Amino acid sequence: MDSAVTVQNVTQVYVTEERATLAVQGIDFAIARGEFVSLIGPSGCGKTTLLSIIAGLIRPTVGAVTVAGNAVNGPSTRVGYMLQQDYLFPWRTIEDNACMGLEIAGMLTKEKKQSVLHLLEEMGLYSFKDYYPSQLSGGMRQRVALVRTLATEPELLLLDEPFSALDYQTKLQLEDLVVETLQAKKKTALLVTHDISEAIAMSDRIIVLDPNPGRIRQEFHIPDDIRTSVPFEARELPGFHALFRLIWQEFGGHDA
Ligand code: ADP
Ligand code: MG
Repeated sequence: MDSAVTVQNVTQVYVTEERATLAVQGIDFAIARGEFVSLIGPSGCGKTTLLSIIAGLIRPTVGAVTVAGNAVNGPSTRVGYMLQQDYLFPWRTIEDNACMGLEIAGMLTKEKKQSVLHLLEEMGLYSFKDYYPSQLSGGMRQRVALVRTLATEPELLLLDEPFSALDYQTKLQLEDLVVETLQAKKKTALLVTHDISEAIAMSDRIIVLDPNPGRIRQEFHIPDDIRTSVPFEARELPGFHALFRLIWQEFGGHDA
């Protein structure tokens, strides 16, 4: 099968001294190459757990994950992970921060450095390459984090609420930038978000999770016209609000 990701019967139990928590149970899904999927569901339903398992940071209690046909047994440069916080190092310049992933992976060559500078240019950050993170706005810092994530050329991007700390306008701009960039580079993406409209505007498909334990509740395939428009324009399309209402009702008053 031409899947970029498969998640097979994944169950995760966290054991601490006080208790065992069944975080997610029996999760099964696949993502096609180049597909953009969003994972939504109430707080604590296991979204971050699933991303950490796919990233190879946690080994699931039960089940298996593959990325590009390979079993996931630990972190790999095949997978890029972008979080709500940018985790830029304050003492490093923007350019040096953007090169971090490559450096850690031992992949930092002259050519790769050149491609990082090119990515910084694409993201409108080239003239800030010698700045320090504290001199940049939140949206610019997330763009640096995106460059750092793309620099190692991962096939799959995992995005854990990467826009939730940004103001609304910056978030809308970044949504468009991320969708356009990932489409142009033919990347596969799995986005976790609290924001139903963001999920509709950005994705090809939405997976809704139920909490306690986290299970797949429902899937929504996004209609072609919305799917193929950039997020900002997708929001203006006639079918958008009906779909929003439908998914909203799925939460049944949950704090999504
Ligand atoms: P979400 O990202 O959807 O908010 P999480 O994956 O962070 O959910 O958490 C799912 C459940 O697992 C929650 O009940 C949370 O308290 C628990 N959990 C997450 N990480 C750990 C951990 N390291 N140790 C123990 N319990 C955890
Ligand atoms: Mg989370």
